[in-house]
Amino acid sequence: MSMSKVPEIFGSLVFDDRVMRARLSAEVYQSLRKTIDENADLEEEIAQAVASEMRDWAVEHGATHFTHWFQPLTGVTAEKHDSFITPSPDGGVIMEFSGKELIKGEPDASSFPSGGLRATFEARGYTAWDPTSYAFIKDHTLCIPTAFCSYSGDALDKKTPLLRSMQALNRQAKRILKLFGKEVRNVRTSVGPEQEYFLIDREMFEKRPDLVYTGRTLFGAMPPKGQELDDHYFGAIKPRVIEYMEDLNNELWKLGILAKTEHNEVAPAQHELAPIYSSTNVATDNNQLMMEIMRKVAGRHGLTCLLHEKPFAGVNGSGKHNNWSMATDEGVNLLSPGDTPHENAQFLLFLCAVIQAVDDYQDLLRLSVATAGNDHRLGANEAPPAIISVFLGDELTAILEAIKNDVPYEGTEKVTMKLGVHALPRFSRDTTDRNRTSPFAFTGNKFEFRSLGSSNSIACCNIMLNASVAESLKQYADRLEGAEDFDSELHDLIRETIQAHERILFNGNGYGEEWVEEATKVRGLSNLKTTADAMPHLLDRKNMDMLTAHKVFTETELHSRCEIMLENYCKTVNIEGHTMVDMVRKNYLPAIEEYLYSLARTISTMQSVSAKAKCNYEISTMERLSELTDYILERVKDLEEALEELKKYDSVLETSEAVRDDVLPKMEHLRKHVDEAEMLMPESVWPFPSYGKLLFSVNG
Ligand code: ADP
Ligand code: MG
Repeated sequence: MSMSKVPEIFGSLVFDDRVMRARLSAEVYQSLRKTIDENADLEEEIAQAVASEMRDWAVEHGATHFTHWFQPLTGVTAEKHDSFITPSPDGGVIMEFSGKELIKGEPDASSFPSGGLRATFEARGYTAWDPTSYAFIKDHTLCIPTAFCSYSGDALDKKTPLLRSMQALNRQAKRILKLFGKEVRNVRTSVGPEQEYFLIDREMFEKRPDLVYTGRTLFGAMPPKGQELDDHYFGAIKPRVIEYMEDLNNELWKLGILAKTEHNEVAPAQHELAPIYSSTNVATDNNQLMMEIMRKVAGRHGLTCLLHEKPFAGVNGSGKHNNWSMATDEGVNLLSPGDTPHENAQFLLFLCAVIQAVDDYQDLLRLSVATAGNDHRLGANEAPPAIISVFLGDELTAILEAIKNDVPYEGTEKVTMKLGVHALPRFSRDTTDRNRTSPFAFTGNKFEFRSLGSSNSIACCNIMLNASVAESLKQYADRLEGAEDFDSELHDLIRETIQAHERILFNGNGYGEEWVEEATKVRGLSNLKTTADAMPHLLDRKNMDMLTAHKVFTETELHSRCEIMLENYCKTVNIEGHTMVDMVRKNYLPAIEEYLYSLARTISTMQSVSAKAKCNYEISTMERLSELTDYILERVKDLEEALEELKKYDSVLETSEAVRDDVLPKMEHLRKHVDEAEMLMPESVWPFPSYGKLLFSVNG
């Protein structure tokens, strides 16, 4: 495709603002805009008019079906296609799509995870159109982004609480801005998620049941070469991968996704794709769509795209960086230091709100990225630790330090940091973006939350982030609205906040052992290592109080989510365990057995021919392999027992603890012996492709 065609194809499959403006009457367009921008209710006639235009547009673009596209708690998107056809009296069909069908759908909710909500409520659920995220066409189907709720109104998806959290932040941020004399229509959070992934040859992928069933390798000895030469990071991209990326960009652009940056990552076969940021809600939908398209396009190139957090042991796993900021509808970024002292005070207040939020709700942020897959990354010296802290960089830290102690700031020029008097220096990216080991880093005009796993929906962490920042802002607004002297109250508030929350600020090496010591023992930060440790904190009183006060979740929804996430953790590991048992019993043990037999035959044949043949290699290999098969048998029996034990627990909490303490260590143990056997066997008789073959499978 030529360069000049990009603007032409961009968004060509999206019912976006350009299409709406061009195709809807002025009146309908204005009403719809009001709904999108200000959350105003949509009249039925307007919905009808939009639906009929949407249908015409979709049919013109080859669509035959429509679907309400939603994000149940499975972590992937769901869709149920209905065709537009309606019989006409003459025996033919006409293409119909009503306002009612646009606004509301009624999928059977009973097969989606509900975490107990189903027991107490009706099985039916409904989907409701989210006009703030544009409809698009995929596979000849008009996809309408929707929220998914139970009949009694409990959220069964990730979009509903995300929209609620954005509302909560909007409400509180507007109160703060008003105190600074600014009336804005809305404040929205924006996100740019950087997505990491692996690309391997499809044929290799299909030969590995562990990859097929679980998305990660459960066995595999280290190849001679991993990532130690750092030769892959930002390296020249192989032609086959380039073709994939071009095809992918093309598909994403058509869907209006701002795919921007692509490069090779640290591990062999690992890459990254980052879109330009957009409103959190849209970014979340787009990221889900992007992951789906990444997989689909890979198939067309004989490749498989792995989005698992840790597909391979011994080389880096894949994460997702959530770049987050808050901006007004006029496009003013509230995390950008301003030009005037007044703007600076406002910037510092919003900065404080984030710092306090991260400190007060570390546990929520941690659990928002907790999955069985991501547990393999966090704290494994390749990704931020499970401990949450904030990196501000030296310059900003020194400024806050000066404010805290009421002493002059000795930066580029010596200024006394009396808020409302002096201007802050602008922070260049250079001074803020050096630390890659921090889970939550200020990068000049946004925060980058780096603990997400590559397959995580970004909805979860943004729900927690928006809600907890809304809570800080609410506390500030309550205090400042009643202040007699705004400037001095503001100054005190900022100073007190820094004093109260400086324990969360850390500019050092987040990968170091010393940090774990200091963070947990000296600073009292939480270190929730696994999903089983983290998830139950969703139900801590302080967290439930905050999330319900801002109407982000109801208590019932929180109980259901905790249940679903823990269940998901247990099920994931359970499948992994059974896959290991399967591979060992059906493939590894028989393969080793067969090789042992051939070794034994070789030895006896050789020694019958010549008494001088010592057969050192054959005998020692045979002896060690024979020993290993005994160990492997013991370990696989252990694992089978541990998996069987899981069935006897009544609560998912107990099950998750057994998964953490019993099943996972036994899986590790089993793997160790199998991987050792792999190193003693000829590749030709080993039943599955090696790490080397998988990681270096994409050539040419
Ligand atoms: P890197 O972190 O790899 O150096 P960048 O900082 O250029 O890369 O961008 C990372 C992501 O941050 C991109 O998706 C970009 O669009 C996004 N981003 C940039 N500014 C903002 C902002 N104000 N709010 C949210 N995301 C942003
Ligand atoms: Mg980044």
